[in-house]
Amino acid sequence: MASSIIWFRQDLRLHDNPALQAAIASKQPVIPIYILETGKGPWPLGAASRWWLHHSLSALQHALHERGSELVILSGNALEEISRLCKDSDCTHVFWNRCYEPYAIKRDTRIKNSLEKSGVITESFNSALLTEPWNNVKDNGSPYRVFTPFWNTMQRRGITLYNSKTPSRLIGYDHKISNQSNCTIDDLSLLPENAWDSGFYETWKPGEQEALKRLKKFQRGSLTDYHNDRDIPAIDSTSLLSAHLHFGEISPWRIWQNIEAFCTNNRHQGTIKAAEAYLRQLGWRDFAHHLLYHFPDTHNKPLDARFNTFPWRKSYQKDFKAWQQGLTGIPIVDAGMRQLWRTGCMHNRVRMIAASLLTKNLLIPWQQGAKWFWDTLVDADLANNTMGWQWTAGCGADAAPFFRIFNPVRQGQRFDPDGSYVRTWIPELASLPEKWIHQPWEAPSELLADANFKLGEHYPYAIVDLQQSRQRALSIWNDIKSAR
Ligand SMILES: Cc1cc2nc3c(=O)[nH]c(=O)nc-3n(C[C@H](O)[C@H](O)[C@H](O)COP(=O)(O)OP(=O)(O)OC[C@H]3O[C@@H](n4cnc5c(N)ncnc54)[C@H](O)[C@@H]3O)c2cc1C
Repeated sequence: MASSIIWFRQDLRLHDNPALQAAIASKQPVIPIYILETGKGPWPLGAASRWWLHHSLSALQHALHERGSELVILSGNALEEISRLCKDSDCTHVFWNRCYEPYAIKRDTRIKNSLEKSGVITESFNSALLTEPWNNVKDNGSPYRVFTPFWNTMQRRGITLYNSKTPSRLIGYDHKISNQSNCTIDDLSLLPENAWDSGFYETWKPGEQEALKRLKKFQRGSLTDYHNDRDIPAIDSTSLLSAHLHFGEISPWRIWQNIEAFCTNNRHQGTIKAAEAYLRQLGWRDFAHHLLYHFPDTHNKPLDARFNTFPWRKSYQKDFKAWQQGLTGIPIVDAGMRQLWRTGCMHNRVRMIAASLLTKNLLIPWQQGAKWFWDTLVDADLANNTMGWQWTAGCGADAAPFFRIFNPVRQGQRFDPDGSYVRTWIPELASLPEKWIHQPWEAPSELLADANFKLGEHYPYAIVDLQQSRQRALSIWNDIKSAR
């Protein structure tokens, strides 16, 4: 009997899933598949993403099983796997939701052409963005490079909000699938061999049910103060939905609709401001995808060509390691890097401060930082990560100008005034009073002695002089800013 395939990728959910709805509408048995690609792609999944994926696939598998269907897990080359499966299962249609990474676009085009040549119909959909990159361009057809006009146009033109309920049942495929690469989620070996992931289990629960719960919790809790509190890393003030969004466990449309409904039910100025600030972040997410789509080299090359010849340091391994390990001696940065290692996440404000220290004070190429984030973040996302790094390094679209260099001490004092965030992640500093927590090197020696604390022994001296390195960066910038 003929069948339809739904190829799950970064859309690991059953609700609001246009490709799944299309597969169901084909009225044929539906074969849901996931393929872990094993070839040498440019951005193989990082360790934290692999952890998330394992659990997200398990949740999807469970949800499908409850609806009379089984997720087929494959590993190998996507084109070969799908072609083989199409033959084995007499498949006439393959449905998927679109991805926007340059290599994914190339792969999908290849697969579409090849399947259609052999008579299989393919259809793809948007499941991830408010507006796809080619739909929100300037009147002359060129892409935006600045966020605000991008966002204004998007709102003016309006956003089509798709939604569909979770199907209660799927027509299962009765025959055994005898594909050689057919395996279990465990066979994919996504989880680490050494158990460094205990902090992940304490922090996250991947899967669409959890994503929906997190959205509800955010709506009922922190949303009303989002605009005031979103920069304070010590409090749970943001939605923590980025990994759920990256893996497509929740759609941005669902979030948008829920936030709008919340505003309708709570019509006061504060709520509206908070909701606007929050929806704007979803706009930044779309903007990041817009940039990566229209400037597909930017995942490793600066968008601002003047930075092609930026004199990054050549020998920086020792400092890079200190940054990775949260041992730079600069408390707010080290707190963030340790939070990242333990939980697979870092607060947005601290990501900016840590990235600024790496690129501007330490003159280490932003690509190195981006790779480390890629490996360690559970929400690692090529579009958002690229934009975040290029923005901070000053070489991207709408970037923080290179001369605006975050002072991590002042940032710490402003956004973590009582030092609670630093104390949580750097227990060695817990006994220092507020005044010195962000700059222990300035604390009077008798005070440090009273606190039984020895700089250089319990916690490192700062690996870089913030003032001198700032001047060094500014003078390099002066040299390159007139370059074409
Ligand atoms: C150097 C650097 C690297 C980054 N790397 C990533 C990454 O790999 N993956 C990732 O999802 N985000 C990345 N970000 C953006 C941002 O830090 C995270 O999206 C945010 O911290 C996630 O927390 P949240 O879900 O609680 O966000 P909320 O404040 O609740 O925001 C809601 C959603 O909007 C989106 N969003 C928020 N801020 C941004 C932003 N600045 N750019 C793009 N989208 C945003 C996210 O999808 C987020 O889940 C990076 C930022 C920087 C400065």
